[in-house]
Amino acid sequence: MKIAVIGTGISGLSVANMLKDQNEVMLFEKETKAGGLIKCERVNDCLFHKVGGHVFNSRNNDVLDWFWSHFDKENEFVKATRNAKVFFNNTIIGYPIENYLYMLDQDIVKKVIHELLELQKKDKISPFDYSNFEDFLKGTFGDTLYQIYFKPYNLKIWKTDLSTVSMQWLEGKLPMPLLQEILESNFFRKEEDNMVHSTFFYPKENGSQFIVDRLKKGLNVFEDFNVSDVKNILGKLRINEVDFDRVIYCGDVRKLPAYFKDLLRNGGVDLEYLEKLRSNGTSNLFCETDETDISWLYIPESFTSAHRIIYTGNFSETNNRGAKRKTCVVEFSGKVKFEEMAEEIKKLPGNLKPIAYNYEPNSYVIQDHRTREVINKAKSILEENGIYLLGRFAEWEYYNMDKAVEAAFAVRDKINKQ
Ligand SMILES: Cc1cc2nc3c(=O)[nH]c(=O)nc-3n(C[C@H](O)[C@H](O)[C@H](O)COP(=O)(O)OP(=O)(O)OC[C@H]3O[C@@H](n4cnc5c(N)ncnc54)[C@H](O)[C@@H]3O)c2cc1C
Repeated sequence: MKIAVIGTGISGLSVANMLKDQNEVMLFEKETKAGGLIKCERVNDCLFHKVGGHVFNSRNNDVLDWFWSHFDKENEFVKATRNAKVFFNNTIIGYPIENYLYMLDQDIVKKVIHELLELQKKDKISPFDYSNFEDFLKGTFGDTLYQIYFKPYNLKIWKTDLSTVSMQWLEGKLPMPLLQEILESNFFRKEEDNMVHSTFFYPKENGSQFIVDRLKKGLNVFEDFNVSDVKNILGKLRINEVDFDRVIYCGDVRKLPAYFKDLLRNGGVDLEYLEKLRSNGTSNLFCETDETDISWLYIPESFTSAHRIIYTGNFSETNNRGAKRKTCVVEFSGKVKFEEMAEEIKKLPGNLKPIAYNYEPNSYVIQDHRTREVINKAKSILEENGIYLLGRFAEWEYYNMDKAVEAAFAVRDKINKQ
């Protein structure tokens, strides 16, 4: 079959690699460079992750097997252990915070323990039976931890009322802590080991850009090509005068009505809802920092609008080539001016000095109670017409890279079945 892939983030690159041997695959990318969110660039020879600080791991063996069939794990990647911390009350404490209660003030700890014990007396409910994210956090960690940590941190990131955020986005993302585990971690001072990125792999050279460059090899990619229309003509899907049998769309689902308005409307999809799905952007300030062994530092409190520092310079030494000190990325939610970020970092540890910055308008998708239903409807109507939605913004899923690969398997299997 002749297959068009719209978008060359990890989703598009993965599915194209999975399909290219049996089909003729063409990829279209609206930016001048492939990679989507995982793109990096070198600034003064230091590696700048323009969004986040992408590291790789997966709990899914099929994803791992597929991934490592494209890379040499031993020679091209380093394996690291996550050393995440929380900057709280002007000190650095462990992450996740519930496992390091012993590092908090006694009065707070007393309250938290009391609330956790009270919660135990209530009937157990599954995390996904909570009607929203706020209720889940309060019902799982108690009101004190919610007020001092989970609420301020999540409000910074989401910039939205947490009671309107549905629970579905968390599925498979967070291990749900049991009181027993919280107590053991606090008594035995055990390090976290059950989160998906508690250990991770990271390319020795060029970070996630290395992943993009490798996966792109041998593919037929048209960059700087914004697909603005897909016509359905006599059973073929036409893009820029070329006819395709199948189209895999990895772009923003909110733009779909512009392409397939009648198809979606006639299928009963709520177009207005789809177009108004909410997302958040992130601003990243790339900096030099003093030496530290931390990988991620979470900053819940409101003394600064920054919410996280990712010490990308600790992931691979080659990331700091060109700098006298280590490098890191300071993350802010939404669009923040360079001057404002430069002021904010003065409040943070590490004598941070800015090198470069980037604003990415779409990084976090916000799911509400109707999102899955509407997206699933759109998916099934489009699939009947040979069009597949794949990826973080096309499926409006809180995917990590490994989940995007897993989703690419699903699209591959559907196409191969036909
Ligand atoms: C701050 C942050 C940190 C993260 N950290 C990690 C991490 O450490 N590890 C991890 O595994 N995951 C991480 N993730 C998640 C990861 O970034 C995503 O899962 C992944 O990049 C999504 O890839 P995608 O291909 O689905 O989407 P994208 O990367 O957004 O790719 C979509 C592509 O489609 C192109 N496109 C859109 N519309 C069109 C059009 N009309 N025509 C042509 N091209 C088009 C876009 O330009 C883009 O290149 C992080 C995400 C964020 C926001």
